[in-house]
Amino acid sequence: MKASLEKLVAQLNEQRRHFSTPCYIYSLKDVANNYRKLKDSLGTSLIYSLKANSCLDLIVRSGHVFEDGIEIASIGELNLLPRGESPRYINNPSADKSFLRAAIASKCTLVIDNLSQLEIVKEFQGKRPINPLILRLNPSTLDQFEESTTVTKKDHFGLGWGDVESALAFCKENDLKVGGFHVFRGSYNFSKLANSTAQAALQIVHKFESALGYPIGLVNLGGGFDLNWESHEFDFEHYRNLLGEFPSHIQIAHESGRALMASAGYFVTEVRYVKSIEGQQYGVCDGGMAQNFLLAKTESTFKRYSQPLILREGRVLEGDSKPQNCLLVGTSCNKEDIIGETKGVALQPGDLVIFSNCGAYNASYTVAPFLSLPSAKSYLME
Ligand SMILES: *Cc1c(COP(=O)(O)O)cnc(C)c1O
Repeated sequence: MKASLEKLVAQLNEQRRHFSTPCYIYSLKDVANNYRKLKDSLGTSLIYSLKANSCLDLIVRSGHVFEDGIEIASIGELNLLPRGESPRYINNPSADKSFLRAAIASKCTLVIDNLSQLEIVKEFQGKRPINPLILRLNPSTLDQFEESTTVTKKDHFGLGWGDVESALAFCKENDLKVGGFHVFRGSYNFSKLANSTAQAALQIVHKFESALGYPIGLVNLGGGFDLNWESHEFDFEHYRNLLGEFPSHIQIAHESGRALMASAGYFVTEVRYVKSIEGQQYGVCDGGMAQNFLLAKTESTFKRYSQPLILREGRVLEGDSKPQNCLLVGTSCNKEDIIGETKGVALQPGDLVIFSNCGAYNASYTVAPFLSLPSAKSYLME
């Protein structure tokens, strides 16, 4: 059993009353380890993408871990964060004037999505210091620099290449300093696309510097690491060598949410009732999709429910491969509110159900105030 899960089980056993269910429990140590491991493998800066998990206590307590900065996508997230020393990047196609103003006032670095945002930034010029701007490049801008054509899904983020050229000219003309660029080719795509992204980015550095007439400082190559990034056969050494070809004045960064947070979080709910309908067993829990939307797998066509660990009176019950299963259902009156299943364990009221890998998007990507159900509490452990 993973060390943090073992610790969690011990804490639930010793201090059950301390935890109100349903709840998320995050391991500070796992967050720090995940960050270190990924950053060391990449050999670059690593920015935390806040939308994966914005639990304030967790971010504050992990603030020192995210030494290369945090990326924020909304004014709500900006207001959430206490001011700190590490850089803040704000990045959202819909960022409006008041968000951009607030971001400049709190010394964030702006990642510019479109030419209209650039016009707004120009209005603020001279009123407050503005950090060198980062231009967000749409993934399609890489195509022209790639040797082999990689087929990726289109998205609406950032500037197309024509607009990149206009933006560079606009910044030069108006004395808006450009610090570099940022490209993100979507979640889960790192191992497939990283090498070609880096090769294209290397050429884009030269395009930027010759258009601007001065060196840029930052290239953010995006991320797209999945939870199990370590188990893929990706040659990090080769990748680090490739990154070594960037000019030494360039700081290279990657960014991640999922890979840093997912495995650091657990979701715990208690079984209230057990019943059976036409031979199908159900465990009715005190938490469900209203606190952990992703577990209900509403976005997958073929649902494979997570199989949680069961804790009963201090003992961990192991399931087996018996076909008889029990579906774990939540509190929302929605027939999709099935968050997991157990096999080979006859559930009882009072059992605690512990789901692993719930640290990224499970809490933040949950549709909150349905039926005025209580939200999940969050706890931290060392
Ligand atoms: C959401 C997002 C990320 C984080 O994606 P993960 O899959 O959680 O690593 C990184 N960069 C940008 C621009 C994003 O919007």
